[in-house]
Amino acid sequence: MYLFKKVEDLQAYLSRHQEGSILSVGYVPTMGALHQGHLELIRRSKETCTITVCSIFVNPTQFGDASDLDNYPRPIETDIEQLEAAGCDVLFLPSAAEVYPKDMAAFRLDLQGLDQTMEGASRPGHFDGVVQVVHRLLDIVQPSHLFMGQKDYQQFAVIKYMLQQIKSSVQLVRVPIVREEDGLAMSSRNVRLSEIGRKQATYISKALRQAKKDVAEYTLEETKARAVAFLVANGMDIDYFEIVDGDTLQSVSNWDDAPVITACTVVRVDGVRLLDNNVLKELEVG
Ligand code: AMP
Repeated sequence: MYLFKKVEDLQAYLSRHQEGSILSVGYVPTMGALHQGHLELIRRSKETCTITVCSIFVNPTQFGDASDLDNYPRPIETDIEQLEAAGCDVLFLPSAAEVYPKDMAAFRLDLQGLDQTMEGASRPGHFDGVVQVVHRLLDIVQPSHLFMGQKDYQQFAVIKYMLQQIKSSVQLVRVPIVREEDGLAMSSRNVRLSEIGRKQATYISKALRQAKKDVAEYTLEETKARAVAFLVANGMDIDYFEIVDGDTLQSVSNWDDAPVITACTVVRVDGVRLLDNNVLKELEVG
């Protein structure tokens, strides 16, 4: 695996490989502390594209709180080992100065409320930071395909919207959530759970699986109420449980109101915010 810290070195490598041949470049942006969820994105990219580029960059502009940014785990040695073992072709490991040169204006986009609900409600400016960094990284890497996890559903929807707005030709691939055997969505935060908390956390995916069954029998409002009641009955501390239009992220109450309907939740266990979601409805387009 090649490791580049400088934009110009990465771009020189990519253009050398593109000379004379038609290449697809798959790109997987991450903030490191990699686990099987991230590696699944690498696997999908390798399956689809000729070259796979992963970046590890803990983006300061998406953290509201400086101590969160400082405390973000950075196990770079094990990350590199995992990427090597997964067969990733290139790791891009830039500094903040490389991603945000002094003379470069920040990319901004009106997110039409996508950034106001759910995660956005408690993290003002977070999605502006996400849009800014992904836009800049895409400009650097110039991939044909961008692989992002369904785990961060709202982030995926925001980036999908951004790509539409800038009329990008990049193909965005949504990779399903990779879960532990008992259903808990993989996350670097899971190691912060106590033994009891780790067991309790399985109620989150159970509630979401049940919601997917319930929509066959109940209205969306009833489905939501049943999921919330199940979580509360099992002692869960719910930040939010929303059933939303999968594109606009606005709440929906009727099944026919949107082509994609997704249940998104955040539950706190041992003080750790655990995100999860389940697509309840998705009409095939095409
Ligand atoms: P992060 O390093 O947290 O910014 O995540 C990088 C990418 O990995 C994002 O596109 C996430 O949605 C994705 N990801 C994180 N956890 C999972 C998971 N359990 N399953 C699938 N994708 C994931």
